[in-house]
Formats: sequence, structure tokens, C-alpha cells
Amino acid sequence: MEINKILSSLGIEPGLHHGISTGLQWKAGSSGHEFSINSPIDASPIGKVIGASEGDFQNILDTAGKAFPVWAAIPAPQRGEIIRQYGDVLRKYKSELGSLVSIEMGKIYQEGLGEVQEMIDICDFAVGLSRQLYGLSMHSERKEHRMMEQWHPLGIVGIISAFNFPVAVWAWNAALAAICGNVCIWKPSEKTPFTAIACQKLLQDVLKANNLPEGIFSLVIGDASVGQAMAASPKVALVSATGSTRMGKAVAVTVAARLGKSLLELGGNNAVIIAEDANLDMAIRSTVFGAVGTCGQRCTSTRRLIVHTSRYDEVKNRMVEAYKKLPIGNPLDTSKLVGPLVDKQAEHAFFNAISEVKKEGGNLIVGGEKVETGLNGCYVTPAIIEAQNHYHMVQEETFAPILYLLKYEGDIENAILMQNDVRQGLSSSAFTNRLQEAEKYLSWKGSDCGIANINIGTSGAEIGGAFGGEKETGGGRESGSDSWRSYMRRQTNTINYGDSLPLAQGIKFDI
Ligand code: NAD
Repeated sequence: MEINKILSSLGIEPGLHHGISTGLQWKAGSSGHEFSINSPIDASPIGKVIGASEGDFQNILDTAGKAFPVWAAIPAPQRGEIIRQYGDVLRKYKSELGSLVSIEMGKIYQEGLGEVQEMIDICDFAVGLSRQLYGLSMHSERKEHRMMEQWHPLGIVGIISAFNFPVAVWAWNAALAAICGNVCIWKPSEKTPFTAIACQKLLQDVLKANNLPEGIFSLVIGDASVGQAMAASPKVALVSATGSTRMGKAVAVTVAARLGKSLLELGGNNAVIIAEDANLDMAIRSTVFGAVGTCGQRCTSTRRLIVHTSRYDEVKNRMVEAYKKLPIGNPLDTSKLVGPLVDKQAEHAFFNAISEVKKEGGNLIVGGEKVETGLNGCYVTPAIIEAQNHYHMVQEETFAPILYLLKYEGDIENAILMQNDVRQGLSSSAFTNRLQEAEKYLSWKGSDCGIANINIGTSGAEIGGAFGGEKETGGGRESGSDSWRSYMRRQTNTINYGDSLPLAQGIKFDI
């Protein structure tokens, strides 16, 4: 693997790297803590980064605070032009950045490329949006009065991201936040700092070419203490945090204590329902992709498969056959479809969940083993386990390729009840060819998730829709539709262009 060649094509020198950037300058962190990063593919060293301390974070905040009025004063379509240029840079470096995503996170190269494509797509979306930050106008109840809404930037937006989508999630947030007039500070996962450094390096050239000041896009690589400092600071107007529900609860409480704004994108426990008359060819293919893609480490990974009794045996047999044929190994080898888990901790969680669910009565029907690939990485065979929805482990999100096979009888409503009977509410889908079942599934009595699909799996969302989930998934919405509103503050304006002063609701108050 030519890690150094890929790093240098992205402007990154091998070895020890600074982990703080204000957009133009790089600085060493002062925490004294070094993050040594090895590829999950074969443990090859990628490099080291000295982490930032909470004090470093405060300095970054000051620089961002100074940049905000400069950036916000630039008209939104011109801010969009900066994002357009960044999108072009990403197009140019798509394969290099996609490879680095694969090397640092372990997802297969195709999915690494897909992640960079998502960045490009959101840049395009943000460029168009920069001319469409519309507010409403209303008819006033008072004579010669006009009412309208305006949307203003918030200020500093803090972005905390997870290891499994090391670049796309930042781009979803940063591209929208930026065209809305905000400055951004990014704290990536400490497991994937080099992809973050690469994104920042590519952005740096655009900022320089446009003579923009420091502090519009900052990067601060550090551990959870830096994330907590971000959550605690009243200078950070919005904290957009993506990661586990455990992390989201900590961030939410800290931000709420200062009555700040948070946007939370947390864990999922996503289900696919296969109804009586489903097209099994489509259902099986998309469920396998949903369950084993990114080695089960997507927030939208399919974790439960709820099958009508009449199709259960057929689905079970076909899923087992498909799992037996999965090519597992080096994610840079294009013939492989399943790469490694990110680290030993994830591998432990995988085996632990299997052994715990077996104790509860679960029946492992395929997979669940270590794979010897000759590479020094955590390669496992994705597992399918026959289980019951109420089992403790089935109720939890294990961030690994485990699919629980569940059975339902009778009407699709029974499957929906089962699907919704978990604490998380991110993604969901039903395979059915019956209009009534599909509509029931999408109605208010249907799926309680932020994403509900028909005849499409749970993972692989497009950027055009609002992305996020309910319940313990956190309630945030990012990416498409009108998610941009989360990055702005709404102001209602009433203008009196007459010579009298009528009060609302006809109140008389003459002095
Ligand atoms: P994680 O919660 O361990 O870490 C995520 C980020 O939060 C990291 O940057 C980490 O340093 C930071 N962090 C951890 N504890 C913190 C704290 N107390 N205060 C502030 N920051 C803190 O998650 P992970 O293992 O990197 O990612 C996997 C999880 O992320 C899964 O649960 C997955 O479902 C979820 N996820 C959700 C989405 C979504 O859009 N809903 C997308 C990707 C990942």
C-alpha cells in the first residue's frame, strides 16, 4: 500500500503532523497527547498527530470569532462561489481522497469514492442554495404594515464527527453552514485525523486563492475533552454532533445547560421489513448491502430483518447463501465487498454481542468468525442471528456486521410495531408490492424513523433529502431539503409605513 504517495498527493507530509489549522496556518497542539494512526487494513502506520488541548481550542475560537463578521458580510452567492471552487477541487482529488478514506477508515474503495462524491454533491447543493435562503412574507393585520422573515447566520458552528463517515458528514455541515454565513470549527474523530487534514489542505488552497482570512474553516484534532469544550462554550452558537448516543447525550446536556443550539445525529437500529408479496431479489440484494456495507459500521446499517412467516425460510436460505459468498479482505482490492472493522475494540464488540445474544436464545446461522486474510487487521465474517426483538442485544446498536433475523405474522402493522419497538429511530424500509401496505408504512401510524423507504434498503441516502432520525438518534436533520435552516437564526420583521400606530389585536392604548 502506498500510503505516503497518497498522503503526499494530498499535500500531507508523512510522519508527525500538526493537528490544528485555522484555514491558512497549521499549528501543533499543546495537549502532549499523540494520536498514532495505523490503517485498519493491515496496521501500516499512516502518521502521528499531536492533539489539541482545551486551551488551543479557546485560541481557535478567538480566530473564528474575528473571521465571522468578515465572512458573514460577503454576499451569500459569493460564499457559494467559494464552495463551488471547493467542489471542483474535490472532483480533481476524488480518487486520492477516496483512497485515504479507505486506508484510514477501512471501508471498501468504492464506498470511499462514494463518500467523496457525497461531498461534491453537497457542495453543488450548497451553491444553488446560496441564492435561495428564502424567508416568508406575511400579510399584516394592521393597515400600512408589512411583515416578513429573514434568516441570519448564527456565528460559530462547531462540528463533531464520527470515524465511520470521516469526510462526508463534515462536508454536509460545513458546506451548508458556510453558505449561510457561519464560520466552522471541525473536531473530527481521533480515529480518522488524516482524512480531516486532507480535506483542510484542499480547502486551504481555495481560501488562499480568494484572499480570505484565517478562521472561516478551522480544524482542531483532539479527544472528547475538546468536543466537550466546544459543547460548553457559549461562543459556539450551534454544535452539530455526529456519533454514538452516549456522546450525544453528553453533548446535548452540556449545550442545553447554556441554552445553546445542538443538532444531533446519533446511533441507529435500522430495520428492513419483508412483507408477504415482496420482490425478494430486490429485498435480499439491498439488505445484504445494508447489513455488510462498510462492514456494518454505518449509522444506517441494516441491523434487523423482519420477515413475514410465509417468506421466512426462503429469505433465511437466500441470505445465508449470499453471506457465504461475500468476498472479505483488503478494501482497496476491488474484488472485495467487505473490509475490516475499524479496530480491536470494534472486533471485541462484535464477538461480545454474538456471545451475549446466544445466551439470550439467539441462533447464529452464518458468520461470526474471525477471517484470516494474511493482513494484520480485524476481518470478520458478517453474522446473521435468529433472534427475538425484545432481546437486550437486539435493542442495542452494535457497530458491526450483525443482522438479527426476526419473524412476524399477519398484517404489516405487526411488523411495524416490532420495528418501532426500539429506542433508536434513524432509518427503516419495507419491501412490499401492495399499495396499502406501503402507504400504511409511510403514514403517521407507520415507521417512526426519520428515514422510511419503500423497496429500497436502509442505507445509502441521497444528499437531496433531509437526513437524520428520531428518539435516541437525536432529532437533528442535515444535508438536503430545508436543513439549512438549522444553521441560521430566524428574525421576524414588522414594518410600519403609515403615519398611525395601530396595536395588534386592536388593543387601545391612547396616551
Ligand atoms: P463516538 O461517539 O465514539 O465519537 C464521535 C465523536 O464524538 C468523536 O469525534 C469523539 O471524539 C467525540 N466525542 C466522544 N465523546 C464525546 C463527549 N463526551 N463530548 C464531546 N465529544 C465527544 O462515535 P464513533 O464510534 O466515532 O462513531 C460511531 C457512532 O456514530 C455510531 O453510534 C453511529 O451510529 C453514529 N453515527 C451516526 C450518524 C448519523 O448521522 N446519525 C452518522 C455517523 C455515525
